[in-house]
Amino acid sequence: MSNAVNKTAHAFSKENLQNLLNQRFFYAPAFDIYGGCAGLYDYGPPGSALQANIIAEWRKHFIVEEGMYELDTTIMTPAPVFETSGHVARFADWMVKDTKTGDVLRADHLVKNVLQARLDSNDDARAPAPADKKAAKKKNAPVKLEDDVVAAYESILAQLDNYSGPELGELCKTHKIANPETGNDVSDPVEFNLMFGASIGPTGHIPGYLRPETAQGHFLNFQRLYEFNNRRIPFASAAIGRSFRNEISPRAGLLRVREFTMAEIEHFVDPLNKDHTRFDEVRDTVLSLLPRDVQTQGSTQIVKMPIGEAVDKGIVANQTLGYFLARISIFLLKIGINPDRLRFRQHMGNEMAHYATDCWDAEIQNSFGWTECVGCADRAAYDLSVHAKKTGANLSATEQLKEPIFTDEWVAEINKKTFGKHFGRDTGAVQQALLELPQAELMAAQAGLEHGPVKIPGPGFKTFEITKDLVTISMRTKKESVRTYTPNVIEPSFGLGRILYCLLEHSYWAREGEDAKRGVLSFNALVAPTKVLIVPLSSNAELAPLVTDVSAKLRRAGIHARVDDSSASIGRRYARNDELGTPYGVTIDFASVHKGTMTLRERDTMKQRIGPIDEVIAVVTELIEGSLDWDTACERLPEYSGQQDV
Ligand code: AMP
Repeated sequence: MSNAVNKTAHAFSKENLQNLLNQRFFYAPAFDIYGGCAGLYDYGPPGSALQANIIAEWRKHFIVEEGMYELDTTIMTPAPVFETSGHVARFADWMVKDTKTGDVLRADHLVKNVLQARLDSNDDARAPAPADKKAAKKKNAPVKLEDDVVAAYESILAQLDNYSGPELGELCKTHKIANPETGNDVSDPVEFNLMFGASIGPTGHIPGYLRPETAQGHFLNFQRLYEFNNRRIPFASAAIGRSFRNEISPRAGLLRVREFTMAEIEHFVDPLNKDHTRFDEVRDTVLSLLPRDVQTQGSTQIVKMPIGEAVDKGIVANQTLGYFLARISIFLLKIGINPDRLRFRQHMGNEMAHYATDCWDAEIQNSFGWTECVGCADRAAYDLSVHAKKTGANLSATEQLKEPIFTDEWVAEINKKTFGKHFGRDTGAVQQALLELPQAELMAAQAGLEHGPVKIPGPGFKTFEITKDLVTISMRTKKESVRTYTPNVIEPSFGLGRILYCLLEHSYWAREGEDAKRGVLSFNALVAPTKVLIVPLSSNAELAPLVTDVSAKLRRAGIHARVDDSSASIGRRYARNDELGTPYGVTIDFASVHKGTMTLRERDTMKQRIGPIDEVIAVVTELIEGSLDWDTACERLPEYSGQQDV
């Protein structure tokens, strides 16, 4: 597509974009005629089509290209699943309350918003004049900040995600951070679990939750997936579906909602080999990285580096993680995210889940700041291990060893004649206690038995006494021909609403020389909700058969086209479609009837070309499929200057 357009003619206006999105029904607050409910949105026709096109590309880019196994697992989940996964205990954010009004705020967002606002107003602020002194004493009031205060704020903001709840509370006290809307103090932070509870069945006796991510559905089906992949590792599963989080105070439009669509991949890998067979294909992909150590020094300076170098230097933990970071970047740029506004930020120590070994977020810059849109974590063996332990299910993989491994180990053997009689009801428990005894303790017990009875720990605080005539402990050589291990998981996790919103901001601009209301959404043809607008010049019946004919031909070519035969002027009809991001328009006029020609309009330049109807259809089809660019299209179709559309 031509890039000869000055898209920076007007400064970005969030308000104008928001008006456009409302007016064209990209999305809207759900239930608004009932007063609405924060954090819930409905997508209208262009928003739904845009999301569907992003998802279609995601499927191609990940599921098809990487041969992943797609899953569709349930949203409603019995409570024990999330008790085991750790979500019941830990899936929480820190919340503070306005001490007078009781309004709730998310603690980290409060600190961020207040400190950022102080920094933003710092440049304009002057030292308070005597009359202003009272106002300046008010909490959160803009004052000229000393250099060391600016540095302290910047350092806090750079590592905001690293603070615990009590530390956030301390920051509020130290920096006099109050509720910006009321000026009132806030309470100490308390934890708030983000899962929506539910009760399953008519008696309500089965407690459950709406899932806050799709991941558990992959882990619980691991053994079936492993069989499906002919008992081979690595492989990946993928799921696209709704997730629910009871966000504390969602105020950032689509960026923070309580119900959203996620696309998640769980890539199961051998913990001893996290190389990726296709890593060389992405090795030279340059990413903007914000490593952990840069942030802990209080800086947000990015480092541009090929992913191959980042993995070689150990900045990114392994090839598989690096492979996915590169593939995520390629996907986001393909759908139209601005490369200068994309970075990969590594999680800091405290921020990372306790089981994760490395984690990077793809963050996209937008008018709200830098927002995590894709998380990509190496979750190690955590998930499969905890579910296997809790349920007793076999969630491990095996590998036939080329050379058997011989290992010496202490083994306890019971004397069947005496053991059961001696321990009676406790027989099973003592056997289990012997099985669970670590090697070092077995060795010590063996030595002890030579001199008399030995105590071993049982369940709870119980102990059991064993003797030589009940148990024999000896060293045995074990031959292993099969290695059994718990696969590790690398998880890229996409929030589609966040990506969609950032794409809207990155695609939006307003025409030069016009008032800023003439907005354009410059989607590429891949994701644009509608690809071609068919515009009959007038409602004259002579044009109708051609409109039907062109529509049918485009439909047969697999192109999503729409007819606008409203009575609005042709310029207005095109302007409306610029707002919808439709990349091409074709105009059917009387020359079409008499000479068999049609014009083709390109959205960003508003330039028009002309040619025989079938040739225009062929050109526009190739443009949309991506096999032709606009400059080459212009070589095939001469310029049309007869009719101006604005
Ligand atoms: P997480 O599991 O918290 O790393 O989230 C995975 C992805 O889900 C994030 O990268 C976001 O894109 C998305 N996400 C998480 N929470 C929300 C939310 N409240 N609203 C919209 N998207 C979200």
